[in-house]
Amino acid sequence: MNILIMGGPGAGKGTMSAKIVEKFNVNHISTGDIFRSEISNGTKLGLEAKSYIDEGKLVPDEITNSMVKHYLENLKDKKSGFLLDGYPRTLDQAKAFDALSAGTDLAISIVLVMDIPFEVLAQRVTGRRLCKECGAIYHIESNPSKQEGLCDKCGASLYQRKDDTIESLQVRLQEYQNQTQPVLDYYEKKGLVQTIDSNQPIEKVWADVEKALDQ
Ligand SMILES: [Zn+2]
Repeated sequence: MNILIMGGPGAGKGTMSAKIVEKFNVNHISTGDIFRSEISNGTKLGLEAKSYIDEGKLVPDEITNSMVKHYLENLKDKKSGFLLDGYPRTLDQAKAFDALSAGTDLAISIVLVMDIPFEVLAQRVTGRRLCKECGAIYHIESNPSKQEGLCDKCGASLYQRKDDTIESLQVRLQEYQNQTQPVLDYYEKKGLVQTIDSNQPIEKVWADVEKALDQ
């Protein structure tokens, strides 16, 4: 089974990805991993990509697409498929990946969309506090530290990330939506999209994800 997982900032994609990888024995694949691997292995595509990155330019879609395909085809342990995260990011990439993978065992079987209402997301993001020293994450309502402003684990002070504000969240969400809505519509037409309600306790979200993937 080849899964594509999508979701805006704070939609709980990371937590669910870890659980999916464990339960369904798939390779977790992010484009960041692919770029690092292809570049450090010095593959032809990796070197081409690097020349763009070194010049501070965006890597063209056709290189990214071929690199993803090359990486997936050459995985040592193919396991039971893969979980793609962060790719395809644009409609062009989605179409190209479909063309590259049509009729192969790389074709995407299901697209999971982690969905969360804006107000809930805003509350999650603006209440987040991080430890300066050890990176532990708290939330002022759902997971407060025992002593306000101090880390339970190491005692260092907690801070709020500069872009954990409503304004910054709105900008990030808008960017995310502009880019991914066409990708979503594309997969929706193919009947591959399963929307998961992220605004539930984690166990419930996971139960819904399992159900979608078991079908
Ligand atoms: Zn700490």
